[in-house]
Amino acid sequence: MKTALVCGAGGFIGSHLVEKLKEEGFWVKGIDLKYPEFKKSMADEFIIGDLRDPQICKQVTDRPFDEVYQLAADMGGAGFTFTGDNDADIMYNSALINLNMVNVALKAKVKKYFYSSSACVYPEYNQLNPTSLNLKESSVYPALPDSEYGWEKLFSERLYQSFSRNYKMNIKIARFHNIFGDYGVYEGGREKAPAALCRKVALAKEGESIEIWGDGLQTRSFLYISECLKGIRKLMDSHFSGPVNIGSDEMVTINELAEMIIKISGKNLSLRHIEGPLGVRGRNSDNELIKKKLGWAPNYPLVKGIEKNYLWIKNEIEKATSTQ
Ligand code: NAD
Repeated sequence: MKTALVCGAGGFIGSHLVEKLKEEGFWVKGIDLKYPEFKKSMADEFIIGDLRDPQICKQVTDRPFDEVYQLAADMGGAGFTFTGDNDADIMYNSALINLNMVNVALKAKVKKYFYSSSACVYPEYNQLNPTSLNLKESSVYPALPDSEYGWEKLFSERLYQSFSRNYKMNIKIARFHNIFGDYGVYEGGREKAPAALCRKVALAKEGESIEIWGDGLQTRSFLYISECLKGIRKLMDSHFSGPVNIGSDEMVTINELAEMIIKISGKNLSLRHIEGPLGVRGRNSDNELIKKKLGWAPNYPLVKGIEKNYLWIKNEIEKATSTQ
């Protein structure tokens, strides 16, 4: 039976990945600071531990795993990442996790290793104008990410690439672009735009307005979780190492996303634009490389994922209010 270790198994993508690996017949160990918030983990073994601690990393990597997935990071949506208030924690915590994990994976002779990087590595100067973006994988240099979160991801990509070069480790790197779906946080400050907007719409009463950060004309693309998992597994089973974008190329403005959610809700709501942390002006996944190297690219329509996500968040809110 193949063995896998999922770091960040209590998080959004990590908890879904554990399920996917179990469905595929893996024996799975998970580690995180916390258990998944909304659903019991399917991992065969789940360790609560802090990956900033090298001893914990050593303990958890107790066998030559067939596959290690390193998803643990100190992260959140724009309200967490772009205010500047969490920069030191983001850089220190995530860099330590990656430094520790690559070292123990080498020593444990892990066969394949996956690292989740981010679209936030791309230079701000290529994302100023939503109609002429450049997010090709090769456009990452000269580097100028717009956040410390992006700089840490770029540092860690280079860390993994150097271990791969010098120690012949088999390491794969994907750059995720705004992944969303069920069992993701939707309140508390770390939630991303789709979840935050679904929450605002679900809570709004008929005729009210919902708040949108900025003018809402900033563009993004959003990838439903099942497509992200497909991409991760395809990359792991391929001969390609990346870095490669795993994202949707169905670009929308934040206003369009909000209108889509309002339409799904069936409510009559308007948008109210306020100041807030924004990030880059435009972003969309460039999927040329993934098509070429993996013969596949995500194509699940945004509206279908948003429909599922809105219903899930609405249900969670109703459950929470009925038990109060
Ligand atoms: P998440 O915050 O839900 O999951 C990350 C998990 O890491 C959390 O459960 C957290 O508790 C855990 N963690 C943090 N510090 C830890 C530590 N010191 N020791 C052990 N566990 C620790 O985030 P996610 O959305 O599931 O993202 C997973 C990975 O994908 C992250 O590396 C993130 O940077 C990357 N990524 C995600 C997106 C996205 O849209 N979700 C986009 C780009 C990149």
